[in-house]
Amino acid sequence: MLITEQLQHIDAKVFSLEGSRIADWNGYSATFEFVRLPSNVGGSQLWLHCACGRTVKRLYFYRAWLRCRHCLQLGYQSQLVDGYTRQIWREDRLRKLLPCGARRPKGMHLKTYRRIREAIRNAQEMQDYYFCLVALPILRRMR
Ligand SMILES: [Zn+2]
Repeated sequence: MLITEQLQHIDAKVFSLEGSRIADWNGYSATFEFVRLPSNVGGSQLWLHCACGRTVKRLYFYRAWLRCRHCLQLGYQSQLVDGYTRQIWREDRLRKLLPCGARRPKGMHLKTYRRIREAIRNAQEMQDYYFCLVALPILRRMR
């Protein structure tokens, strides 16, 4: 099952008290439970308890169910697009680290700057690669 639609969800970070609650959505209602577990950095955090037994930060409504991403086999957004689009997103993300364009931002280490520039070049090469994967069979048919 591959769900591509945007699903309504419940986030643990919105709530501050543990215990069970009832969520209503689209004519369905489901009970879900918050559990407080110790955090790795001290203190504790609220987690949502899924019917599968996992503790997660987010539960999704799907039809009459309120389940975690594992139960619904939900992919990340980047898993739903092709390699070419993923590389464009990657390049955009990297370019945001260099707001001055081709110049090295003030205060950025030269080594960091070079690593980002190299990663941008790599993303562009990967875009070319994915483009060729699609374009070459089309060009062969045109011969
Ligand atoms: Zn689950």
